[in-house]
Formats: sequence, C-alpha cells, structure tokens
Amino acid sequence: MKVLVLGGTGEARQLAAALTELTGVEFVSSLAGRVRDPVLPVGPTRVGGFGGIEGLVRYLRAERVGAVVDATHPFAAVMTRHAERACLRLGLPLLVLRRPSWSGNWHRVTSIGDALGRIATLVPDDSCVFLTTGRGELAVFATDTRHRYLVRMVDPPQEPLPSRTELILDRGPYTVDGERDLMRAHQVALLVTKDSGGALTSAKLTAAEELGVPVLMVSRPPLPAGVAAVETVDAAVAWLRTVADAASAGG
Ligand code: NAP
Repeated sequence: MKVLVLGGTGEARQLAAALTELTGVEFVSSLAGRVRDPVLPVGPTRVGGFGGIEGLVRYLRAERVGAVVDATHPFAAVMTRHAERACLRLGLPLLVLRRPSWSGNWHRVTSIGDALGRIATLVPDDSCVFLTTGRGELAVFATDTRHRYLVRMVDPPQEPLPSRTELILDRGPYTVDGERDLMRAHQVALLVTKDSGGALTSAKLTAAEELGVPVLMVSRPPLPAGVAAVETVDAAVAWLRTVADAASAGG
C-alpha cells in the first residue's frame, strides 16, 4: 500500500523514518516548498502544492495512493481541508497526525487579525511585542505603528513588517535560558504566538512565565468534522498497520 505523508513538521519526518521499517507500506512525503532550506525527511519526497483539491485528487489517483496521513502543521488548515475533501471523494482512509496543544493561562484569540486588536489592550504604546506567529499573516501587524516589534522567523519575510521591527532569523530548537536572555535584552512586554504545540518552540512560554511577560495565544483552527486524528507518531504507525492489513486482506 502506498501512503502519502503530508509533511512540513518534525512529526512528519519521524513518521517517514518509522515507515521505512514498516513492511507492506510504501510512502512518499510531501512538502509545500515554502522554506528555503528545509530539513528533509528520509525516503522519497515530493515538493510543491498539488493544485488545490482537484490537483490532489489527480495526484492520489495517478500515484495509486491507498491512504493519506496529514502530518502538516496545526495551522496548515487549507492543506488539511483539501486532504479531507480529496480523500472523501476517493474513499481513501485519512488520518491527521497533530501534536497536542500547549496548555497554560494565556490571553486567547482565534485569529491573527484578532491578535492585532488585542495588543493595544494588553500593553502600552512603545512597548516591545515579541512576535513568533510565522510569516503567514505577518502583514496584519504592518499597520501597527504604536508598538515596537521583535519578530522571529525561519526565512526572511517578503511581507511588509511593522515600521519599528527588529528581525531575528532562526529556526530553533530554543532553550529557556536563551529565550529569557532574548526577552530581557529586548525588554519584551508581550509575547504573541500561536498554539503550535510541541517541545521545539515551547521554551519561550516558560521564559515568559518566569519573567511575568503576558502571552497572547492564537488558538488552532478546528479540524474538519469527522476526521480521525492522533497525537503521536506511534499511533499513526499503528493506524497505518491496520489500514495496510485491511488492504492486503481485501486483495
Ligand atoms: P496551508 O495554508 O494549509 O496550505 C496552502 C497550500 O500550500 C495548500 O493548498 C497546498 O497547495 C500547499 N501545501 C501545504 N502543505 C503542503 C504539503 N505538505 N505538501 C504539498 N503542498 C502543500 O499551509 P501553510 O500553513 O502555508 O503551510 C505550508 C507548509 O508549511 C505545510 O506543509 C506545513 O506543515 C508547514 N508549516 C506551516 C506552519 C504554519 O504555521 N502554518 C508552520 C511550520 C510548518 P495546493 O492547494 O496547490 O495543493
């Protein structure tokens, strides 16, 4: 059985590594191609969008894919919706592998747009806002001239930045000590981030708590209704084993 792993995350890379050991399963990992120098998974990899739901349906048919694991980032909601639509259309088993959410006592918003509106209610003008929401909707903050921004991301942004921005290009993982030093050095008054989950980037939350810096957290978009989801690579492998067994029993 051939499995398409929709990737771009550490979990997708771990799953690819695990699938090299799983007999009866062939797989290909897929990356969107946004990051300039991506960390690649082991095994066969394709790069670039499929061309919407129709393109994905064509790809799944042409490649005779028997199951899909969507291991994209929790905020890659478009890809997740496309996978759900395409698999429903073709009657293919689909599993979402999504790391658990972070939990903590934070100010919460449901979108980046709402985050911008909340900043002025949480910190005074001219304070430093540490923004780690990725480049997706960075342009939303470009209109804010009232605050200073410390923006951290993987690749240089093409989007406009707020006028008073200091940019840090980095990929993590980060340490609590490093995050504490960074926030102190820039006198960060508010951390704005999104609920990506996982240990790789959670040090900033510990550091913010230690320093008494408030956190404005963008909640995850919901999964499409009815989609099967697991939180660990092991659970995804177990699911694939069952699906592969059923496929081979069915001929
Ligand atoms: P998105 O908004 O959900 O998807 C936009 C389009 O990008 C999709 O319609 C699809 O294009 C293409 N795409 C996304 N993931 C793909 C994949 N794994 N393989 C092939 N095409 C893919 O996605 P996004 O939020 O821009 O994220 C893009 C990639 O970066 C994802 O793979 C995600 O796992 C990773 N990532 C995202 C974030 C984040 O915060 N959003 C953070 C870290 C990593 P077509 O319609 O042409 O098929």
